[in-house]
Order: sequence, then C-alpha cells, then structure tokens
Amino acid sequence: MSERFIFTRHRTRCYHCGEIADQVIKAVSAQAQVICSACGVTRIFVPRFENAGATGVRTSIGRYGVWELEAGARCKNCGVTGPHDLVIGSSHFTTRCRNCGYTHFYRFSLEYVATCPIDDGVSAPPAPW
Ligand SMILES: [Zn+2]
Ligand SMILES: [Zn+2]
Repeated sequence: MSERFIFTRHRTRCYHCGEIADQVIKAVSAQAQVICSACGVTRIFVPRFENAGATGVRTSIGRYGVWELEAGARCKNCGVTGPHDLVIGSSHFTTRCRNCGYTHFYRFSLEYVATCPIDDGVSAPPAPW
C-alpha cells in the first residue's frame, strides 16, 4: 500500500503485554492499524461511513482509555498538509482535518498478535480440520 496518510506513535502502557511501549499508529483510507512495538499485538480498524452518533460519544469502556492525539497528514479533502486530530478508543478510530474538518471514521474490526508464534507441535495434537 503506497498511500500514506497518518503515521505516528503514542507511548503508553500496552493493554496486551503491559509494557510502556510505543504504539505505532497508521491509517490510510481503507484501513487503520495500531501496533504495539513491544509485543506486536495489532488492532485493525476498517472504515465506517455513517456519521450518526459519532460526535460527542467518548466512551472509555474497554481495555484502552481513549487516546486523543495529533498527527500531521495531508488531507484528502482540502489537500492541505497539516495537523489532524486522532481519537482512538477500543472500538473506534477517527481522524479529523483541522483545516476543513473532514473526518474519517473507522470501527474496530479485529485484533491479532503478530509476533511470538505459538510453539506448537510439541504437546498439542493436530486440529481436527
Ligand atoms: Zn504490547
Ligand atoms: Zn482538510
């Protein structure tokens, strides 16, 4: 994916490994990701096009608190490169251009652990499928 929109980091305690580590944040129009630099746990967010009820809802329910960050990016709508507000929670991810207010909404899609593969083949029998 050559498109580059948001690319930033946020240093905080990882909910998965418990380390204080950089959480790498990437977003393009098709997908957003948050990746722990310590354990590799990755959360994937996918676009959510409807806007209903999105503004003003700041739930902190979930394993993460809500992060409110700022990142420089080039807006697809107004074409200006400048600060974008990021709001990242356990179930949502939004980016908003400060220049024109254009907002991308994403919703949580899935989580996976990219590193530390399970050491299988020793004790567990093959899965039945
Ligand atoms: Zn981690
Ligand atoms: Zn803009």
